[in-house]
Amino acid sequence: MELPVAEPGTERGEGPLIQCPYCDSEAMHKLAQILLPGLAAVCVDGTTGDPFHSPSVVAVDLRREMVDYITQRSESFIADALIESEANQEGPDAAVPDDPFEAVSVFMDDFGSTKRNIIGHVSGWLLSDSRDDKIDDLVQEMEATRFWPLERREAVAETLLKNVDLRTRFHCPEKYESEARLADHKQQCSFRPVACPNDGCRARVSVRCARDHDAACPYKPLQCEQGCEKRLLRRDMDRHCVTVCPMRPMKCPFGCDSSFPDRDLEKHCAQFLRPHLIKVLKAIHKKARSEDELKDLALKLEKYDGDGKLAKALDARPLTNAVKDLEAKMKAEHSSRRAVLH
Ligand SMILES: [Zn+2]
Ligand SMILES: [Zn+2]
Ligand SMILES: [Zn+2]
Ligand SMILES: [Zn+2]
Repeated sequence: MELPVAEPGTERGEGPLIQCPYCDSEAMHKLAQILLPGLAAVCVDGTTGDPFHSPSVVAVDLRREMVDYITQRSESFIADALIESEANQEGPDAAVPDDPFEAVSVFMDDFGSTKRNIIGHVSGWLLSDSRDDKIDDLVQEMEATRFWPLERREAVAETLLKNVDLRTRFHCPEKYESEARLADHKQQCSFRPVACPNDGCRARVSVRCARDHDAACPYKPLQCEQGCEKRLLRRDMDRHCVTVCPMRPMKCPFGCDSSFPDRDLEKHCAQFLRPHLIKVLKAIHKKARSEDELKDLALKLEKYDGDGKLAKALDARPLTNAVKDLEAKMKAEHSSRRAVLH
């Protein structure tokens, strides 16, 4: 890339100053992210209502044109801002927009408006849901086919970022008169890239962004959010928490109002055996028995259940089966006792 205009007073010496090449990895990443939907929007707007061209067919040409256009705009960004501020008779400081992402979005929009066809200009289209859907679809297709891979977008984003980041918040402003002094600086530059230490993560991030990256890195090992024993990668957390985590909340299978961690199901079933039993007995005996009779029967079954089979049934079907078994046994015992008595 071109060396930016040297600012006087950064470093003593006569010859041209050499700029530190490092920039903010997260900002570059963010800028690279908005390039793809930006291009997709241009492709969709340019081909809406056109029976001969699909958005993905025009994408190759439009990508090249768009990159050229926004790169040129970024190069003349300082000059354009100054001219505008003079026209508006503002101080030079007011002219410097300090959000590189907004600046690049404006470039992309301006490019897009030159490519819009008749339908693309019709009011309402730009705000419609079907436009958003088409853009989303195209972005997904481009991602799936690696049409414009992130690494290549990042290279474009780096150039843009350095050109439009006039307040040097997102790239290193340091300049040196010799390669040797620059090399010394690079060793400790806060924008210097380091590899993410998390196993499996291939990101290289600026030292100053390392903490932010770590706080979002998909490969960071974490303790389970729901508090089970397991340690897992951030990217696996959501799935773990809803599928296999023993602490995931579950509803009582017998329809109690309470919910509890999945691993407490056995405890709950032992603790609430009586109400569960009554529900099951109600289903078995329909309306043949009164509430009180059902309670008595539940009590009897619990007493009769020597080896605690009832409490071990963790769902309605196994509990129903256990109840039926016990009732059959009780009946058989009862009639054999009667036979002995008579
Ligand atoms: Zn630096
Ligand atoms: Zn990482
Ligand atoms: Zn867990
Ligand atoms: Zn329950």
